[in-house]
Amino acid sequence: MEHRDNPYFIQSATLSWEDGIPCAEAYGDVYFSRDDGLAESQYVFLQHNQLAQRWQNLDPQCPGRFTICESGFGTGLNFLLAWQLWQQCAPANWTLHYISSEKHPLTPQDLQISHGHWPALATLSNLLQELYPPLLPGHHRRNLHDHRVCLDLLFGDIVENLPALLDTEYPALQPSNSDDPPGATTNRVVDAWFLDGFAPASNPEMWQQALFAAMQYLSRDGATFATFTSAGVVKRGLRAAGFSVRKVKGFGRKREMLCGEFVGADDGSPAPPLPPRKGAVAWHQPQSRGSVRSVIVIGGGLAGCSTAWALAERGIQVQLLERGPTLATGASGNPQGILYTKLSPEAGALNQFTLHSFLYALHHYRQLAHRRDFIHDFCGVLQLPGSEREAELYRRVAEVMADQHWVKSLDAASASALAGLAIDRPGLFYPGAGWISPTSLCAAYTQHPDITVHHCKAALSLRATSQGWKIDCGDTQFQSDAVVIANSHDAAKFPYSDYLPLRKIRGQLSYLPADAVLKPPATVICHDGYIAPPIADHYCIGASFNLNDDSTALSDAEHHDNLRKLRALDSAVIADDTEVIGGRAALRCASPDYMPIVGALPDTAAFDRDFASLRKDARLTVGRPGRYHANLYINVAHGSRGLTSTPMAAELLASYLCGEARPLPRHLSEALSPARFIIRDLSRHRR
Ligand code: SAM
Repeated sequence: MEHRDNPYFIQSATLSWEDGIPCAEAYGDVYFSRDDGLAESQYVFLQHNQLAQRWQNLDPQCPGRFTICESGFGTGLNFLLAWQLWQQCAPANWTLHYISSEKHPLTPQDLQISHGHWPALATLSNLLQELYPPLLPGHHRRNLHDHRVCLDLLFGDIVENLPALLDTEYPALQPSNSDDPPGATTNRVVDAWFLDGFAPASNPEMWQQALFAAMQYLSRDGATFATFTSAGVVKRGLRAAGFSVRKVKGFGRKREMLCGEFVGADDGSPAPPLPPRKGAVAWHQPQSRGSVRSVIVIGGGLAGCSTAWALAERGIQVQLLERGPTLATGASGNPQGILYTKLSPEAGALNQFTLHSFLYALHHYRQLAHRRDFIHDFCGVLQLPGSEREAELYRRVAEVMADQHWVKSLDAASASALAGLAIDRPGLFYPGAGWISPTSLCAAYTQHPDITVHHCKAALSLRATSQGWKIDCGDTQFQSDAVVIANSHDAAKFPYSDYLPLRKIRGQLSYLPADAVLKPPATVICHDGYIAPPIADHYCIGASFNLNDDSTALSDAEHHDNLRKLRALDSAVIADDTEVIGGRAALRCASPDYMPIVGALPDTAAFDRDFASLRKDARLTVGRPGRYHANLYINVAHGSRGLTSTPMAAELLASYLCGEARPLPRHLSEALSPARFIIRDLSRHRR
């Protein structure tokens, strides 16, 4: 396949080595100084952003995030130095958020060789090598050191990646109504800029108006920048974008470099808009201003508990309301959940989200397992096609994801050896995946000093007040700055979310006694159904998939079907007289487009008015931000892949509630947004 036809291809850096120093062939330039790369990085980027002083002065009484954004991650030297300094200077309850865009990532091998230059940074560089993302385009998040450091590696061109962090395509457009939310303010997250990325003479494509304009919309007041270059194009671009620019002595033999800070446009005139995309609707602007201190999460399944955890890790007081007597009583209550994904060789929002949420989940659960006990086994997942069409799909996935360590293409013989069964077809193997007990995971998430769980049986009613949200549950009242609705189908009972097209999909598991399985599998096997290594003293197999049945009663027919599918995998896997000893049926909650529903809840009446013109012309450009209920969010419709998609969904919600840079580009957060159904329906004349 041609690289240009492969949406999962990114050109890694081609290096030559000059006296052991890496040099990028495409740019004819070195990654760090031949004299003393470490001292140069410290001088240019850390000192000229005054990081040591600024971090010593951060207020531990008022914990928050300090965000650095970098052009060109390269070897990660700047990141490692910033991380080291952060450990030395910053209060323990603050988080360093380091966002770096890299167009040509180093291969893991080249990263390791480069790090050999700095033995003093070995502890941190070894950690970076361990969690370095696979070479795939897109946003890769890594939370380190108990959330003290959050690294977002955006693999791709910074000229596209930075505008994708903004909430709207048209940040400079003036509001059309006086009560419209202001257009350009919610994305101001960056405190310091590291403008690396090779000199404008060898890399003119990077130092563009689109880069400077995005910097303008992303900078907090007083944000600083530093860069090794003193080229006129950089000076002029930054000045036009509202930065004061100073020329100072460069490092070593270099005469000059630039630094300065964001002061805003001199004359108060709005910044120039980013280049508009034709036919785009700027409706996505769900971010709170970070003033949220307390949140009520409704629903104690995977979506609710993971959201509560992500918020509590940011110092937010969370009250979690669960209707049942224990956590995870719905679809999250199965004894074993599979870290499962369904990749596609095609581009598209669903496929990108599927891939990136899976990769993030693999990282997230490993980190969590260092801090909390939950029942799991990362024994790998073998995925086998159920039809010739699926087999062809897997072949194409293997082709586009070539050379990845986290997904392997196996022929039938290797699959059989791995599984310990007679497998008759090739498949895909995910060595880092496995199974988790969702109930024990929910318990682990909520063992947090900032989370209180309340079991409230009565129906809930929500009210917006001048002091935030009030929730009545029988005689008990709860209050908070914000609310996240995460109670699956029951979200339809609230007037704010009753318009959502939620679907119920019944799934039934069957339990088998341990001695019934004659060939115990060494890994999870997903075929038409699935089987995992045993939990406690029995096996769980399943699960059925039934769109037309709302009941949660166990069905003999579905038990038989689960057994039939297992026998079709390998007829000798279980004894002929195997009897099912139990099971569990639950209703998964899904959306019509199979994307979860995650984000701020829109004011539907205002959307109908503000975007009415879409009824006439669906391709119309409407440059107006959508209106949303203040501090009201939702996190539902994870279908049968909740274990895989909820960690990323929780990070996304936390970024909205805390006013942070999002872990996903805007087009994916739009594809997840509950407002998408209104925009879609207006365009299709269904509203
Ligand atoms: N900061 C790096 C470090 O600490 O090792 C060194 C960066 S190196 C001097 C410049 C980097 O910018 C290269 O890795 C290059 O691939 C990257 N780069 C160049 N143009 C880019 C663009 N348009 N978007 C993102 N990265 C880019």
